[in-house]
Amino acid sequence: MSLLRLSSVRAGYGGLQALRGVSLHASEGEITALLGANGAGKTTVLNAVCGLVPIAGGDVFFAGERVTGYPTERLVRMGLAQVPEGGKVFGELSVRDNLLLGAYSRRGRSSRAEVRDDLEEMCRMFPVLREASSRRGDTLSGGEQQMLAIARALMSRPRLLLLDEPSIGLAPMAAAEVLRQVAALRELGTTVLLVEQNVAAALQIADRGYVLEVGQVVLEGTAAELLASRDVRRAYLGRDYEGI
Ligand code: ATP
Repeated sequence: MSLLRLSSVRAGYGGLQALRGVSLHASEGEITALLGANGAGKTTVLNAVCGLVPIAGGDVFFAGERVTGYPTERLVRMGLAQVPEGGKVFGELSVRDNLLLGAYSRRGRSSRAEVRDDLEEMCRMFPVLREASSRRGDTLSGGEQQMLAIARALMSRPRLLLLDEPSIGLAPMAAAEVLRQVAALRELGTTVLLVEQNVAAALQIADRGYVLEVGQVVLEGTAAELLASRDVRRAYLGRDYEGI
């Protein structure tokens, strides 16, 4: 079942049409990758889904409901969470307080014990956060901050997590570790829409994917199909992959 569906969505900034009729879906419990060159419109898709960019045409459906034009707060209450590019942790707050802030949208709905249990669950999934619990967010490495940002988003118990370039700017080992953690989100049953510039790595962990070019979907398929596609290899995977 698709948890998220976009139907011919158009959106942009002033006169610029960044999305020119994008249709895609993310199936429940799966990781769906959004791929494409810089400026293709990937971030705009995420922002249109979570109400940060107005939708000029088409529709967005989430959990079976037409949510086009819903304000972000309402979408968050329905189970949407976004980790923006760079994660954006609160540097002056402790790791623990960053995580607790992630549970803010659950106030009134979850007991303290439930939030405490989820805090424990996050520390189990991301052991580095347990060790760093009382440290300021800005003392963590780039990879650790990205994990904190993901764990903070998970503290809202989202049904759908929108992840924007979680590995960007990280050293190769840290990037691989972050993507390994993203793959492990399946264990929680969280559905993920993943924007990633590292196409090969994204397709290793994704179930399905879409390639965007200038605001339009030009290719879609299972991760295996996209990895095998000549167009994807030529455009995104470079020479090394051509003969494989
Ligand atoms: P990147 O990997 O560079 O983030 P992207 O595929 O995520 O690329 P978007 O950020 O969605 O692409 O940008 C799509 C188009 O919209 C680009 O032409 C970009 O210049 C433009 N754009 C993005 N954000 C804004 C903004 N806030 N104001 C005006 N134009 C914008």
